[in-house]
Parts: sequence; structure tokens; C-alpha cells
Amino acid sequence: MNEIILMKLGEVVLKGLNRRSFEDKLNSNIRRRLAHYGSFRVYSKQSTVYVEPQGDGCDLDGAYGACRQVFGAIAVTRALPCPKDKDAIFHCAQNYLDAELRAARTFKVETKRADKHFPMNSMEISQYVGGLLHDAYPHLKVDVHTPELCVHVEVREKAAYVHAPSQPGAGGLPIGMGGTAVSLLSGGIDSPVSSYMIAKRGVQLELVHFFSPPYTSQMALDKVKQLAKELAPWCGRMTLHIVPFTEIQEEIRRACPEDHFTLIMRRFMMRLAQGVAKRTGAKALVTGESLGQVASQTMDALTVSDEVCTLPVLRPVIGMDKQEIILISRKIGTFDTSILPYEDCCTVFTPRHPKTHPHLDEVHEFEKALDIEGLVEKALSGVERVTVSQ
Ligand code: ATP
Ligand code: MG
Repeated sequence: MNEIILMKLGEVVLKGLNRRSFEDKLNSNIRRRLAHYGSFRVYSKQSTVYVEPQGDGCDLDGAYGACRQVFGAIAVTRALPCPKDKDAIFHCAQNYLDAELRAARTFKVETKRADKHFPMNSMEISQYVGGLLHDAYPHLKVDVHTPELCVHVEVREKAAYVHAPSQPGAGGLPIGMGGTAVSLLSGGIDSPVSSYMIAKRGVQLELVHFFSPPYTSQMALDKVKQLAKELAPWCGRMTLHIVPFTEIQEEIRRACPEDHFTLIMRRFMMRLAQGVAKRTGAKALVTGESLGQVASQTMDALTVSDEVCTLPVLRPVIGMDKQEIILISRKIGTFDTSILPYEDCCTVFTPRHPKTHPHLDEVHEFEKALDIEGLVEKALSGVERVTVSQ
């Protein structure tokens, strides 16, 4: 029998009557992500997703890595199926985990018996297989509390499965179950992390990036495309909406006081993101703002940008320190790209003394000098869309 991948469902199991639709979504997400790696049969039973390669041309290493990035599973492992027979299970464990059994000094066997018709109970299977392994590897000592190697045996409906300890899965909920949101993706460290965090809660993302040529370069735009590509193994296929922002920035600079420049610019970003949300059916916006990190992220400043929003603004990193955000950014693989030194539209025309405690009535007054609707319409009509996949 061929090696397969087992994925343990996470929060999906708590979904009661909706559980079936969560499982179906998870399975179809897995199928789509694995398309690169060959042909796989994907189905779920008893809180476990089975990923079985069909034929020899499958890249199981690649598929395993991909499965660990699919939201909805809390643990992932490779496993070898064998006939449901106590000696077959022992031989399977010996052959499949030989290298691990040689390397470990202490071990135990842990059995789960989902098939209650199997003639031995879990304890008896563990003792039987453990005893034979102990004979075969006399250097091994049994340690039931903190073994270096735990040999897992699962006796299920169709077969028994042997595997080493699972690795953590991506957690969260299957993408698509939580609706769609528009995530504002800059080239920085925070917004890829905030995008990842909301996608993890089962949300399909539409990415929006504002770019301001010639003040921001093609390299800066390529960096954002690269970040989107790095998010795709987690977030699935997405569209990156590239919104021309130069004219809006030039207009604000021409007509508004310098200390309000960023605040008014951020209101435009929100209006434009909502424009994209309207076209795509998204029901929330996502930003990488963290309270107090910069002048435009004080509570007063957030009030000013939220005022133009009718959709909820999700800010998953709002209470996180930079170091905490960086940790996630390293974990998900976006950090090295995020720190490439290209400019963002936020860093051009930056005020020397940005207003940290703005007043809404002042902001309204300054905005009177701008053709808000015209500028928004024009920017939205110039949006370029790029499909991002793994
Ligand atoms: P980041 O690391 O995400 O760039 P930051 O601390 O640099 O965050 P700001 O530049 O003030 O923060 O931007 C705050 C948020 O606004 C970003 O997290 C992002 O969601 C959004 N944003 C900023 N610039 C852009 C842009 N050019 N395109 C799209 N969204 C942007
Ligand atoms: Mg930024």
C-alpha cells in the first residue's frame, strides 16, 4: 500500500449542523492546492481527511508541505496503511519507521481504535506491537510519559495506519466559509500578516494595493506582487487589485495642509478599498494597523479613517507589538520580501509633523478643496487586476 497524508480537522469539528459544508469546503480547498503535485483522492471520515495519491507520479513531499498550509486542519502527518492484522501492523511499523526506531532511545506505541469490531482493544494492540518492536530494536527503552519516538497506530474502517507524531497544521477555518474581505496590502511587514490572520479565519481575500508612479517604482510594485504570491499557499488563489494613486496624492499635496496629508490619504485608501469591495461582494476591509505604531494609527486617527467606512474594518494586528508581528511574518515566509528597501506610497510626501490627534471637522473642512467622488471614480476606473496563485 502507498504512503498517504492524514489531516486532523480543527475547529471544523465544532460546527454542528454546518459541519458537513465546512468539511466539503476544506476538501475542495485541499484538492485545488494539490493540483500541482499530481492526482490525489481527498475525502473525510471521522474527523480526519484522507489524502491518497493516485498512481506513481505524485509528489508526496510537495503535497505534504501544501497540506500544512491549508486552513482548517490542526495536525498533518504522513502515514502508511496496512491490513488490519496485528502482525501486519508490526511489520508496517518496523519497515516504515525503521530509521526513527534506530535513532530513538526511548519509545512507546499509542493506538486509536476507531473500528470497534477489531478483536483487540487499543491497549492490547499497543502492547503487542510495542513488545515486538522492543524485541526487534533491543536498544530501545519504553517510556510512556516522554518518549523520544511515539509510534502511532490507528485502526480504522478500511485499514490500519502507522505514523510518526503529526506536525501542526495551519489551524483556522477553511477559506471561503467566512465570506470575502478586501485586504489592503502594502509592501511592509504588517499587512501580509494581517492578510494571513484574516484568511486563517476562513475568509477569501481580495488584495488591494495603491501605487503612485513615478514616486513609487516598478520594483516596489513587483515586491507587492511577490508578497501576494507568498501569501497564496495560505490564502489560496487571489486577485490583486492595483489602484493608481498618484493623482490623489498630488491633489492632497496641492490642496491640503501638510500635517493632514497622511490622514486624508488614508481616507481615500478606505474609500477606494470599499469601491473594490462593492465590485467583488466583499463584506469587510482588512488593514495591518497596530495601535500607536505611527501617527496615523492613534485612536483619533483611526476614527478619522473609519468615518468614511460603512463596512467593518478588521485590524487583526491592532494589539500586537512589532516583534510579535515579525515573528508571524517569519513563520509565514513573507518577512524577507517585506524588508526589501523599496518605497511605498505612504512614504512619499510624508509630513514632517503629522497630526496625531486630528479633529473630524477640520478634516471635513480641508477635504472641501478636493473633488472626492471624481478622484475615487477615476482611480477605480484605472484599476489593474492580477491573478495570484501559488
Ligand atoms: P505595513 O507593514 O503593512 O506597511 P505600516 O506600519 O507601514 O504597515 P502604514 O504604512 O501606515 O503602516 O499603513 C497601514 C496599513 O495601511 C497597512 O498595513 C496596509 O493595510 C495599508 N496600506 C498602507 N500602504 C498601502 C498601499 N500602498 N497599498 C495598500 N494598502 C496600504
Ligand atoms: Mg506600510
